[in-house]
Amino acid sequence: MGKIAVVGSINIDYFIETDRLPKLGETVLGKSFFISLGGKGANQAVAASRLGGEVSLFGSIGDDENSKVLKEKMEKEEVDLSYIHTVKDTPSGAAFIELCNSDNRILVVPGANKNTDVSYINRVVSELLSYDVTLFQLETPIEMIEHIVPILYDHGKTIILNPAPARKMKTEIIEKITYLTPNEHEFEMVLNSKDQMVDCLRKYPNKLIITCGTKGVAYFNGEKCINVPVVKVEAVDTTGAGDTFSGAFAVAISEGKNLFDSIQFGNAAAGLSVTKKGAQAGMPYRKEVDSLMK
Ligand code: ATP
Repeated sequence: MGKIAVVGSINIDYFIETDRLPKLGETVLGKSFFISLGGKGANQAVAASRLGGEVSLFGSIGDDENSKVLKEKMEKEEVDLSYIHTVKDTPSGAAFIELCNSDNRILVVPGANKNTDVSYINRVVSELLSYDVTLFQLETPIEMIEHIVPILYDHGKTIILNPAPARKMKTEIIEKITYLTPNEHEFEMVLNSKDQMVDCLRKYPNKLIITCGTKGVAYFNGEKCINVPVVKVEAVDTTGAGDTFSGAFAVAISEGKNLFDSIQFGNAAAGLSVTKKGAQAGMPYRKEVDSLMK
């Protein structure tokens, strides 16, 4: 089994449940409050670790009280934190999530995540090169990704990018990425394309993997478009489904599974994740996915 490096954001998520959102200048009493580990990098690292991946998280936290909470939570999840950078006089990334009935409103302050930049990645590049699979998202500076992807590519590494939140990527970077996992709303912006989904898939055989919610996951295998169906479950909360898919997909790829089987593994894990409330609360453990796939 190969080792996985997740390079990405780490946030503390503050959730407030309320029956009504305040207007500007108004105060409303909320119903409940809880704190959770979040950020796409941390989420995907946790998903991969629970599924049996040997995972290190590369990223930055602040030197505030929250950093201790974040470290504790990630250590509990058996995510290796050897290369985490603690940034002085800076807060850890934080998200403020207002949950109102079935809707939400989110404000994110990147804080220390901004320091997961080119100079950080240059300091850890030799360590990063000891990993077989590297998994990125787009909540850290894009210049860092544009800088490190060609280096990983030249060393023959497997590079997975979950391009969320969506941003336009340079063609020469996309060429060097092994697997790209946008959802059906992200791929046009990421690829800067107005093509239909099938035409886009055909341009990136065995690379572009589009998750389409309950409609399955699509890719082009060089001959035809393949749709890998999702598992049938009672969905309660789909938050974090995309993160679970990418983390699980990285684990399967690191184990040498082929593309179809890796997507199927991702679908099983992400399907289980939507049966519980919360991004990380629903992320399944390996035995749950294995027994679902039997
Ligand atoms: P997120 O809600 O985390 O932003 P996303 O929009 O990035 O997710 P989706 O395509 O909605 O990505 O979902 C990712 C994967 O999660 C899907 O490919 C599928 O495997 C699984 N999934 C999502 N919703 C469901 C569902 N209702 N039932 C089963 N599986 C689901």
